[in-house]
Amino acid sequence: MSKQNLSRRKIVAANWKMNLDIDEAAEWLGEVGPALKDDDCDVFVFPSSVMIGDLMDMYEGDMLVFGAQNCSHKDSGAYTGEVSAKQLASVGIELVILGHSECREHFGETNEIIKQKLQQAVQNELMPIFCCGEPLEVRNKNEQKNYVKQQLEESLFGFSAAAITDIIIAYEPIWAIGTGLNATPEQAQEMHAFIRAEIAAKYSNEIAQQIRILYGGSCKPTNAKELFACADVDGGLIGGASLNPKDFLAIIRAL
Ligand code: PEP
Repeated sequence: MSKQNLSRRKIVAANWKMNLDIDEAAEWLGEVGPALKDDDCDVFVFPSSVMIGDLMDMYEGDMLVFGAQNCSHKDSGAYTGEVSAKQLASVGIELVILGHSECREHFGETNEIIKQKLQQAVQNELMPIFCCGEPLEVRNKNEQKNYVKQQLEESLFGFSAAAITDIIIAYEPIWAIGTGLNATPEQAQEMHAFIRAEIAAKYSNEIAQQIRILYGGSCKPTNAKELFACADVDGGLIGGASLNPKDFLAIIRAL
């Protein structure tokens, strides 16, 4: 997979979360794989770690890139149940989602832990998708920009300019994840433009223009087109709707 983002090639990424067993996943692959043409976008899929290797073996095309949904913040050692970035890279995995709000909520991942996970990913040449986004109570107080700024500063902005261009960002307002209630295109564009401006202020405008920022949160075939049409939205991280091959393909076509 090319690490060049110069033209901000769009991305549609399927986050399956803890769904689909191997038979269901194989069926999904059998339907989505052959339907992918050179759509002029990157298509990523994030299954549960246990089945990524089997799915990579099964897949005969070259359009889909497989990634993991998380990795440890540690290099190696006595961390039962964890999978390191090095282990993921050693089996040919190129991508990892980090900082997803579900991991922040259920596993207590802090901005500092996520920074360490990002360091592990970067050191092992995995391309991370770094997730950020505010909960409903923060949005209700109109404090989403400060909230996301803190996430960026505490997890991301310690990286060098060279490293940051190989990190993908996903803006995922928590109130929109799995709720059926997506951000409006105006809300998404405002936050994406804000994130890009923060990167420009910290690094440079040139770097900010290279970084891909995905939208995530109840993206589906009926709203994908208008969300993807926003100037600073470079594609989507899709949860629920990615489980259905037809819906996922329709979202790719919306690009
Ligand atoms: C996600 O979990 O990253 C996500 C965007 O989920 P959903 O599309 O189901 O809201």
